[in-house]
Amino acid sequence: MQQQAGLEFLPFARPDISEAEIEEVVSALRSGWWTTGPKTKQFEEMFSQRFGAEALAVNSATSGLHLALEACGIGPGDEVITTTYTFTATGEVVRYLGAHPVLVDIDPVTMNIDVNLIEGAITPHTKAIIPVHIAGLSCDMDPIFDIARRHNLHVIEDAAHAIPSSYKGCEIGSLGSSATVYSFYATKPIATGEGGMVVTKDPDIAARARIMRLHGINRDAFDRYRSATASWRYDVVAPGFKYNMTDLASALGIVQFNRQPEMHAKRQRIAEHYSSQFADLPVLLPAPAPPGDLHSWHLYMIRLTDDAPVDRDAFIAKMGNLGIGTSVHYTPMHMLSYWRNCYELTDDRFPVATEAFHRIVSIPIHSALTDSDVERIVDGVRISLTGRGAS
Ligand SMILES: *Cc1c(COP(=O)(O)O)cnc(C)c1O
Repeated sequence: MQQQAGLEFLPFARPDISEAEIEEVVSALRSGWWTTGPKTKQFEEMFSQRFGAEALAVNSATSGLHLALEACGIGPGDEVITTTYTFTATGEVVRYLGAHPVLVDIDPVTMNIDVNLIEGAITPHTKAIIPVHIAGLSCDMDPIFDIARRHNLHVIEDAAHAIPSSYKGCEIGSLGSSATVYSFYATKPIATGEGGMVVTKDPDIAARARIMRLHGINRDAFDRYRSATASWRYDVVAPGFKYNMTDLASALGIVQFNRQPEMHAKRQRIAEHYSSQFADLPVLLPAPAPPGDLHSWHLYMIRLTDDAPVDRDAFIAKMGNLGIGTSVHYTPMHMLSYWRNCYELTDDRFPVATEAFHRIVSIPIHSALTDSDVERIVDGVRISLTGRGAS
């Protein structure tokens, strides 16, 4: 059935839920086990097997990043280098620990952290780098690992967008950084409403994050007391957090994980279609992954060029009038009041990110889009940028 343009609003994002997710959640409900339990264990094992690492399910990527930094020993006065072009969560977790995010500008093509600027941002206080695989395109990880090794820094990957993404043939999650953190927020490539996963090959980081994820309760200490009558005993070794994932969310995650190849194939097809259809328009298209590597296509971000007859805000308004939702990823951190004031940041220190922000817009790309939705979006972009639809 062909959808008529303007008839129904096409939201920017919508979760892709099949009967299988619904059945799995119902089974969790009926099991009587709602909080962290067998479904969460199963969901963790899926990640653990895929990446050959330990996997800890948490209630968001924000909490996962917080746990990972804490487990790496990041504390008051430390500095953590990251990109300005990310969601504020990447930086706020650093502040949770009394440490300071040090923001650097991005590469104009990939929109990921400019690896050439990292070393200049290192001081004696630097303890870690958080690369963010923006939109699902891997950062250039070899130079990042090289810098980290030479300066004895942790690398914690913000992989909120990056499943499945790969770098030089290796999937993100298996590169061996201190930790890789995924988000299962409602719009992310695998969605559980709210949720996240910390993946690490470092047993000490895994052990610390596991304890801090649930009130600082130490299971090993608990085991020392274990006897037939002592199952209620536990020990607490730190004032931990309440960051565990529920089995209701994990039920969604188990099915979404299994459907991920199919959902990704759909995103990939949509991205390729957009890029072919927009080739003649006054926009800079998102960089694809290098040949042989995967881009998750969590986001499809276009940047309007000087030749475009409208600016970004007018483009968004035109798309809205056509009934098509768009979004902007992101207002760079250095342009947000808190960060700007806290660290006296100015736009001229981040020329590439600032320029990109003024031109950028994300158009819908998700696996619940129908072919006619996609055509409607393609037409909407063309009309908004040229005044003409497809011939
Ligand atoms: C969504 C997102 C987060 C936070 O994820 P939550 O699961 O919502 O906490 C962190 N970093 C980036 C880049 C994100 O897009």
